[in-house]
Amino acid sequence: MARQVRELAYDCDVLVVGGGIVGLSTAYAITRAAPGTRVTVLEKEGGPARHQTGRNSGVIHSGIYYRPGSLKARYAVRGAAEMIKFCAEYDIPHAVTGKLIVATDRAELPRLHALVQRGRENGIAVRELGGAQIAEYEPEVRGLAAIHVGTTGVCDFAEVARRLGEASGAEIRYGARVVRVDRRPELGVAVRTAGGDVVRGRVLVNCAGLYCDEIARMTGDEPGMRIVPFRGEYYSLARERASLVRGLVYPVPDPAFPFLGVHLTRGIDGGVHIGPNAVPALAREGYGWGVVRPREVAGTLGWPGAWRMARRHWRYGAGELRRSVSKGAFVEAVRRLLPAVEEGDLVPAAAGVRAQAVLRDGTLVDDFLIREGARAVHVLNAPSPAATASLPVGREVARRALAALPSV
Ligand SMILES: Cc1cc2nc3c(=O)[nH]c(=O)nc-3n(C[C@H](O)[C@H](O)[C@H](O)COP(=O)(O)OP(=O)(O)OC[C@H]3O[C@@H](n4cnc5c(N)ncnc54)[C@H](O)[C@@H]3O)c2cc1C
Repeated sequence: MARQVRELAYDCDVLVVGGGIVGLSTAYAITRAAPGTRVTVLEKEGGPARHQTGRNSGVIHSGIYYRPGSLKARYAVRGAAEMIKFCAEYDIPHAVTGKLIVATDRAELPRLHALVQRGRENGIAVRELGGAQIAEYEPEVRGLAAIHVGTTGVCDFAEVARRLGEASGAEIRYGARVVRVDRRPELGVAVRTAGGDVVRGRVLVNCAGLYCDEIARMTGDEPGMRIVPFRGEYYSLARERASLVRGLVYPVPDPAFPFLGVHLTRGIDGGVHIGPNAVPALAREGYGWGVVRPREVAGTLGWPGAWRMARRHWRYGAGELRRSVSKGAFVEAVRRLLPAVEEGDLVPAAAGVRAQAVLRDGTLVDDFLIREGARAVHVLNAPSPAATASLPVGREVARRALAALPSV
């Protein structure tokens, strides 16, 4: 009887904020690991995956880039294999295409070589190619040398998220924007939505992506970071020119930045996406220069880390801004990989915004960052390859949420 009364006081055991791929994967992992656990997901939009998860490159990353031993490396390698299995099991469009990483400048050759080593350390097979061999994979791409990674693929992450939500059996409430969180460490959380509903749970899981720092602060936990939103802008190759690119072509990444540079991606829909760049967004969901939210801009400018980051990286940022405002400059960057491309071949496509966590000292958080408070688990940095890695990441978040559940 006492147990029944206690259960009635809660609407669920675990309350997840955010219906992107990380929140829905967490819901899925909880109900798999502990059947009978009541999970409610609150998502402010009218459906799943409307932000980062539905606005990305759609690439199942192999894990070659990431520092051996990092969470990114571990989760990406495992996550890529699991993602392909999940897509096959749930009949979600996907393909293992492989990808080329191409050096176009002599200065990039040592970094390309270092990537081969890193790939081996992460257990990823790569094939090294001389400039002339690039044409075996991509006849229109030019470079001094390249590596081919066989395990990279593409899929529809928005559809993966939707199916994870369905398969989880969780109650998913759309149009439910969380505006307030009351936490009593000995009791649990009561969350209020913009519509005035109150939902009570024993444990809160914060997977709010671009707003994860705000949700953490609403809960009463100071996260020690703030989200600085970076928009990634894309073009598509005009349909009649899409044959210029067969698969996935990436430049050699600059190790100083978590963003990977403009790449060419033939998506699962057959279209070729080119991008993204990385420019500061004037709103967390600012998908164009015209979207400005003064409160959010003021929040970013009020964070000392944002200024420190800007001082450190302004030179890189200036190049990205130039490519944002000048299509000619963007095309120039693409031509380094794909000389045949003309300005008229590129058609503007939907942009995405990355939720980049920045620490007080200006450090861009590179790896996953998951922190716990009383009765709360906060996912504070879920950068690329978080979509690829969402199954193992969801399991880790679920493990922590279940550990925070008091036994009844
Ligand atoms: C341009 C770009 C390219 C990328 N390319 C790749 C790639 O090719 N491969 C890859 O693996 N990864 C890629 N990523 C990374 C990947 O998309 C993200 O890491 C991943 O989607 C993060 O998922 P999430 O669930 O944490 O965030 P989101 O998908 O952003 O989900 C968070 C959800 O929380 C909701 N929310 C926020 N605040 C509230 C609130 N107050 N109340 C209720 N709900 C709320 C939002 O509406 C949103 O639906 C890319 C990202 C970007 C932006």
